Amino acid sequence: MSAIERGRVERRTTRRVDVGGVIVGGGAPIVVQSMTNTDTADIDATVTQVAALARAGSELVRVTINTSEAAAAVPEIRRRLDDIGCSVPLIGDFHFNGHKLLTQHPGCAAALAKYRINPGNVGKGSKRDSQFATLIEIAIAHGKPVRIGVNWGSLDQALLARMMDDNAASASPSDADAVMRGAIVASALESAAQAEALGLPGERIILSCKVSDVQDLIAVYRALAQRCDYPLHLGLTEAGMGSKGIVASAAAMGVLLQQGIGDTLRVSLTPEPGGDRTREVIVAQELLQTMGLRSFTPMVAACPGCGRTTSTYFQELAQRIQAFLRTSMPAWRASYPGVETMHVAVMGCVVNGPGESRLANIGISLPGTGETPVAPVFVDGQKTVTLKGERIAEEFERIVLDYVRMKYGGEPASPQLLPERRTVAVKAIA
Ligand code: SF4
Repeated sequence: MSAIERGRVERRTTRRVDVGGVIVGGGAPIVVQSMTNTDTADIDATVTQVAALARAGSELVRVTINTSEAAAAVPEIRRRLDDIGCSVPLIGDFHFNGHKLLTQHPGCAAALAKYRINPGNVGKGSKRDSQFATLIEIAIAHGKPVRIGVNWGSLDQALLARMMDDNAASASPSDADAVMRGAIVASALESAAQAEALGLPGERIILSCKVSDVQDLIAVYRALAQRCDYPLHLGLTEAGMGSKGIVASAAAMGVLLQQGIGDTLRVSLTPEPGGDRTREVIVAQELLQTMGLRSFTPMVAACPGCGRTTSTYFQELAQRIQAFLRTSMPAWRASYPGVETMHVAVMGCVVNGPGESRLANIGISLPGTGETPVAPVFVDGQKTVTLKGERIAEEFERIVLDYVRMKYGGEPASPQLLPERRTVAVKAIA
């Protein structure tokens, strides 16, 4: 029988950019970032949201800087975050008036760890080059990196018109979409070359070219990756709400990540009204973790359920264990190194339950309809204990905690982690 090889990702070689102590590119782990949706001038709200995003695992957080009030608020936001022990680097997102805001607010320029510049709206006509130069000179003066972030929706129209004209005059013209994709890539590369010519080191430049169509995004980033060695920031712009946004982002970025393209990413989800902004961080982490590129939180494998398990008990247990792992991680990260790679299985019946549970670090196979109401637990591939009664969830949670302490903390194994066949009536355990 032939051996089937597992997919392997060979990361593209890129320059190493230091963003306030977080390394992007140069072989560093792919960085998860996010963006606030508060009014940056509202210091309380912005500090609260940045801290929540950082707690969820965002390693860089971008804030909108669109007004003088927003720029003036940044040093105080930085100070308050530092005061609460939140050191996540802040990135300023500038459009139209960034050259003015950074000039008028040197405290803002100093407090930010990176500036995002959109070459499509940095200025029009004769002002474009001088305003772009002002932004780059401020970055040089403050020793900051920049992201040259091209966006399909605000593409440099002068550049696009020039490329459309050249295309029309060529012997074998491409279709308009192909020219548009070419213009997006050209805008990023020409702006990066311009920034380097102004004196910004190449080791302080990150590029992005965001579009909203999955196939276009893949094509644009492949072209960009072939033509430069700047680190690339991945993101599908206007990805949308809920499952549509998650699926589209994962489909596009998953293909690129598998090809080794991408040094940092943001999943741009539209939150539901009143929804939790940290969801975009969790989705980005789960994308990287399910692809085996990074580990953040122990993963729970749970079967989808079917007619063999009509109760919702196993769904509730899977949800409970996932929440338990996620809320425990901030404390576990320091005490139990490696715990983020743990796999837990919560399965609904005997068909796949024992098999999947054996493949996990720790797993439980709940009884399906008509099965004996017992739940065998498997630890490192071996059946250790069978739970039954009314407190299976609580008892399994305790066994998971014992496992973490043993496996990642070097503590002695509790009896329920040892491979011996016995049944415990957990109803009796208070
Ligand atoms: S493990 Fe059992 S309950 Fe879960 S999907 Fe498979 S057959 Fe259905």
